[in-house]
Amino acid sequence: AVVTRFAPSPTGPLNIGGLYATLISERLAHQSNGVFFLRLEDTDQKREIQGSLDNIIHSLSYFGIYVDEGPGLSGEDQGDYGPYKQSSRIQIYKVFIKHLVRNGLAYPCFCDPDDLEQIRRNQQRLKVTTGYYGKWAKHRDISWEQAKEEMDKGKPFVVRLRSSGSTDKRIEYNDLVKGATTLPKNDQDIVIMKTNGLPTYHFAHVIDDHLMGTTHVIRGDEWLSSVPIHIQLFETFGFRRPEYGHIAPIMKQVGASKRKFSKRKDLDGTAAYYREQGYPGAAISEYFMNLINSDFEEWRMANPHRSFRDFVIRTDKMHASGALFDMNKLNDLSKEVIARFTAKQVFDEVYAWSKEFDPELYSLMDKNKDYTINILNIGRAAEKPRKDISKWSDVKTMISLYDDEWFVKEISCGYKLPANISVHTAKEVVRGFSETYRFDDEQDVWFQRLKELAGKLGFAEDMKSYKADPDRYKGHVGDVAMVLRIALTNRTHTPDLFDMMQVMGKYRVLERMQRFVA
Ligand code: GLU
Repeated sequence: AVVTRFAPSPTGPLNIGGLYATLISERLAHQSNGVFFLRLEDTDQKREIQGSLDNIIHSLSYFGIYVDEGPGLSGEDQGDYGPYKQSSRIQIYKVFIKHLVRNGLAYPCFCDPDDLEQIRRNQQRLKVTTGYYGKWAKHRDISWEQAKEEMDKGKPFVVRLRSSGSTDKRIEYNDLVKGATTLPKNDQDIVIMKTNGLPTYHFAHVIDDHLMGTTHVIRGDEWLSSVPIHIQLFETFGFRRPEYGHIAPIMKQVGASKRKFSKRKDLDGTAAYYREQGYPGAAISEYFMNLINSDFEEWRMANPHRSFRDFVIRTDKMHASGALFDMNKLNDLSKEVIARFTAKQVFDEVYAWSKEFDPELYSLMDKNKDYTINILNIGRAAEKPRKDISKWSDVKTMISLYDDEWFVKEISCGYKLPANISVHTAKEVVRGFSETYRFDDEQDVWFQRLKELAGKLGFAEDMKSYKADPDRYKGHVGDVAMVLRIALTNRTHTPDLFDMMQVMGKYRVLERMQRFVA
């Protein structure tokens, strides 16, 4: 089975690059009934930022990334291969370190910073780049008795891996994403345990990926240069190593050029940003699927109603260069995704979202629950549903016009009539329509009345007659409908006028018409 993992360090909020790599890992595991787990790599306590793990767990669940095993929010591990926080695994690492030292594969090194500086300067002077080992290493061949003596004196030490120093200077391996890859061989006796007794990242990750059965590692290509060390560690232990796939960072479109997201400057580089803005998790995942494999788009067109989870991703079809994160595309795609939701689903999502992020919207929805669902349903049941919401925060402007209090507030600065219509004419239109308006009539009848009214007031009843002789008319039936639209909503862009009137109901429509002519 495929076993993948996300192994973040708790050094801040989840960023979109991390989310992207995680979605790939999760898909690879679950599309083959495998296991996806979360492991917290928290052995570098200096860089730890409080709350990072909670942020990560929340983000993953919002974006629909289902974790089979890992540290839970409650603090309790889920799964049989834990603990899933490296800081709780120190004893495990020590066992493996002892094994290496006993077998001469690693050794304690007592060099202090001055010694290391001396080695560095010597190497520089001789213009050699050979690694730490060889003649530079002071303690490489230290006997166990000597080492013991130093330790007893309380001398601080690290544990270093004994590199082979072979003549072969390159390693080759097949990267899942980048293909055949050649890298310089590691020529350092790298530190595997720090003076504080904690393992280094390289070491802990190898032990854990082995013990936790990881088969595929997908991560950012900033880790590419560590591959030789990782492969070396796996070989030293005789463990079977996982497959590695290194992905290029997601790029941000800035004007005509693209660049990496900046951790410090780009708010939109964090996963949380998209949640705060109210993008449904499914929209982000759907968008990422397009970036992962370009043939997803074609699949989606052929399978408009299936879950993106039914698409099988392939790492060998991923771009080796950085995928571009395009906000406009995300917005368009998010509209498509939301158009597939029912009105009730939209309501539930926005209701939950607004409770956390937009109290005004929340109270608007809370006081008119059924009414709001009906509003959200306008144009939704159509064969080609309306695509007017790209994120939950869009919903406020959309529904506020239907609320009586909001509407009164909005028109307190006046109605926004088009320039070619006088207030006098506009009032004639609304008064005229209100006289023949019967709520129980069919929408066709409403339209018939509107056309008759247009003719009576000197507007063309249809576009064709208007175009044939525009000077004969004040305008056309569309202008008349626009006046009515403004009287009822004070907006020029709305869903279908009669659909809105249906949802608003008889009294609200009458009340708004009266208010307009008053
Ligand atoms: N803890 C590393 C990070 O923060 C994990 C790298 C890996 O996936 O091996 O990205």
